[in-house]
Amino acid sequence: MRKAVTKDGQELRMCPKCHSKDGQVNNGTSSVGSQKCYCNKCKRNYTFNGKIIRYSNEAKTLAIRMYNDGDSGRKVSLQLGIGKNTVIRWIKELAKKNEFIVDKRTD
Ligand SMILES: [Zn+2]
Repeated sequence: MRKAVTKDGQELRMCPKCHSKDGQVNNGTSSVGSQKCYCNKCKRNYTFNGKIIRYSNEAKTLAIRMYNDGDSGRKVSLQLGIGKNTVIRWIKELAKKNEFIVDKRTD
């Protein structure tokens, strides 16, 4: 699923209350790192739960290369300062594209 992103690579935010895409401003991050936003239209705070694309393709490529070179997802995550789940997701995405992972078929 492809999502609209801005030039900065951030997903366009939409207020979950009034569904406005205008006047959405960042308002810090929650304790779990989700982007908190403020809607200027309906004056509500909300947490932006969508995945914000923060990493460049270079970081992604490097992470995957390190993983392919034998580093664990955890090590790659620590070395690059990228969330482990993000690293694992990239690896899975790539694995799907390149069919690195052979489907486990029972038949
Ligand atoms: Zn709103």
